[in-house]
Amino acid sequence: MTSALPFDDFLAATLRQQPHLHAPLSLDGLTLDWPDIGVLRLTPTTLPVDADRVLLSAGVHGNETAPIEVLAGIITDLLAGRLPLAVDLLVLLGNPDAMRAGERYLDYDMNRLFNGAHRQQSAAREATRAAQLEAQADAFFARSPAAARRLHYDLHTAIRGSVYEKFAIYPFLHERQHNRTQLDWLADCGVNTVLLHSAPANTFSYYTSRQHGADSFTLELGKARPFGENDLSRFAGIDVALRALVSGQAAPRVGDGSLQLFRAKYNLIKASDAFRLHLADDVENFTALPDGFLIAEDGDTRYVAEGGEERILFPNPKVQNGLRAGIVVEPVEL
Ligand SMILES: [Zn+2]
Repeated sequence: MTSALPFDDFLAATLRQQPHLHAPLSLDGLTLDWPDIGVLRLTPTTLPVDADRVLLSAGVHGNETAPIEVLAGIITDLLAGRLPLAVDLLVLLGNPDAMRAGERYLDYDMNRLFNGAHRQQSAAREATRAAQLEAQADAFFARSPAAARRLHYDLHTAIRGSVYEKFAIYPFLHERQHNRTQLDWLADCGVNTVLLHSAPANTFSYYTSRQHGADSFTLELGKARPFGENDLSRFAGIDVALRALVSGQAAPRVGDGSLQLFRAKYNLIKASDAFRLHLADDVENFTALPDGFLIAEDGDTRYVAEGGEERILFPNPKVQNGLRAGIVVEPVEL
């Protein structure tokens, strides 16, 4: 028997805190499970054992609205039967409270609270939610057979502009090898720049990569704007690629398919109130740092660019003392 849809629009239902469902729902050709606010699992009625297990998340930063709208549109089309579903799909809207407020976060940056770090910030509202998201990801991938690919794309937009508009962060893999097929897929969907991270991080993508062996990426897809003010045409590449992915199709190539890789060389650490960053407030991500340029200083510590190939990523001198105020990156080959 086919049931009626519990909502017209998953994003609207999430924003108005519509009560979720207490049991999965059988729809035409798929099962819908809506166990919590902003948590939706869609599974085809017939799922091959080696079908991809795909986790798509957005809104871990509540004001990064365009990717949330992209995922909501995909869900609408899946449920309307306009888009076939060929994978086991879990969609997580990360921080509904911050999304409603139009804020990056309410108490604490959620993308610093995964990998168990939420236990050190238990008073923050984001800590509770980060633990819930980890549990949802755990349950999803725990059911995934060895034959199936495990994929996680955590979608973001950046606070500042970027020399390279779309880029991915590949979490530190420890002993695992980088997956060339995944890098090529990213290039095909117009994400032509990838940072290979060289240390663990308390991000959602690091968590699923480390805990579940997923091919996980943080995708930075452009600049953050409020709901309804996004030019979704700028997100067409990833939209088309994700639609192809959930339908079991290859990504149609957007752009020239080129790929440039960077590695994180070191972090700028704000140790004290004396920290000074010698870059403009609106400096773009991946701005080149000329050889000998004084990037920042903090008392007796001086951060000086070397070689002329280094670039700055995520500069933010306003972080609390002891935290990362930017990443210096450099080109790398695989
Ligand atoms: Zn973000």
